Amino acid sequence: MGQVFSKQGTDRQKCTLERKNVQRVFFVTLFMAVLSFLCVVLLRKKETAAFSDKLWVACVFYGIVSAAFSCFAFHFLRRKSKKSELWLFQMIYLIANTSFLTYLSFSFWECTGSFVVYGFCVLMNSCGLLYNKGEYGLCVGIEFLMPVVLFLEKVLLPQQVFFMGAVHLLGAFVAFELYRGHKLAEEYRRKYVQEVKTAEMDPLTKVNNRRGMMRRVVSVWPALEHARRPVAVMVIDIDHFKKYNDRFGHPGGDACLCRVAETVRNTVKGFPALVSRIGGEEFLVFLHGMEGETVYELAEQIRTNVEKMGMPHAEEAKYRYVTVSIGVATDRCSSEISFGGLYRRADKELYRAKNSGRNRVSYHSAEFLTRMERKVNIR
Ligand code: GH3
Ligand code: MG
Ligand code: MG
Repeated sequence: MGQVFSKQGTDRQKCTLERKNVQRVFFVTLFMAVLSFLCVVLLRKKETAAFSDKLWVACVFYGIVSAAFSCFAFHFLRRKSKKSELWLFQMIYLIANTSFLTYLSFSFWECTGSFVVYGFCVLMNSCGLLYNKGEYGLCVGIEFLMPVVLFLEKVLLPQQVFFMGAVHLLGAFVAFELYRGHKLAEEYRRKYVQEVKTAEMDPLTKVNNRRGMMRRVVSVWPALEHARRPVAVMVIDIDHFKKYNDRFGHPGGDACLCRVAETVRNTVKGFPALVSRIGGEEFLVFLHGMEGETVYELAEQIRTNVEKMGMPHAEEAKYRYVTVSIGVATDRCSSEISFGGLYRRADKELYRAKNSGRNRVSYHSAEFLTRMERKVNIR
């Protein structure tokens, strides 16, 4: 739950990761190429009367080694992925493809069934491309080396090479098309995510705007309700901000808003908190999993940190420096309460803080009220 509001990695990090993946894929394919050649050399040496008897040994050897290596490499590439069933599928498929089916294709070349199964497997290999963002599918191309070298070594007949080549080319074509489709979809997805991010962010203070906040709150609320987690809302309002604008102008006011937003963000860093700007000089912090007292202490910390920034205020303002008033409401998340209700309570507390002199935190806990018939109102 702690990571509910955490941000995704930056595009730059993603680029580096992609470059690293490409390097790894290069080494995987290189290894597959070397393995193909080794296999052919092994087959060549066994080209005796016992050739067909020994062929399966070479094929199984090739299959197991390449499967083990591929699985290791692909697992390593996506070690954070939870696609373990896909990984198992790849392992089984690779062993079947490179040992059993190659053996069938060579030994019973006239058997149409083996052609069909072989072709199906190459196409399946291509489909691996779609699910694995390209790494796996590159091996399809490398497999193409096998019939070519076998032909050069005069192990295969030209029509056999033609058949294998055609199957591989078809596989590569399908793989390429899938890869292109996948890349396009990925690009659209990235653009969409970027647009959503821009639409949900306040351009001035770089925290969430009301829309971003609501989407995130709505997405986590059912889980919080199910777990009956404590939830809290803080409404933070800059004191006498109109006077600040009158004294320093609107550009000065904008700079002040940015600094206050930054201070709020820095203070709640490390807590399961979502900071948003919900109005002109009003910020909202939504928290979960924190008991009332901790929330109050955090609100008090925000208030102190803003005061400690020491930003000179207008002379007509009550305090010498820029200060904030904070209204806090906490409750245990359940079907009886709503985010709107919590926000209204926090807003009421904000007014209470304003009316009792500003630069203070006013706190309301429904739990305390129902349990102890008591209201905590500090300072
Ligand atoms: P209080 O202590 O009661 O909150 O008084 P206040 O002056 O802060 O509250 P009031 O609602 O009277 O004024 C809010 C001011 O915030 C008015 C408006 O000019 C200013 N404001 C709203 N949005 C922006 C903004 O994006 N940039 C700047 N510079 N000022 C803004
Ligand atoms: Mg204000
Ligand atoms: Mg206000």
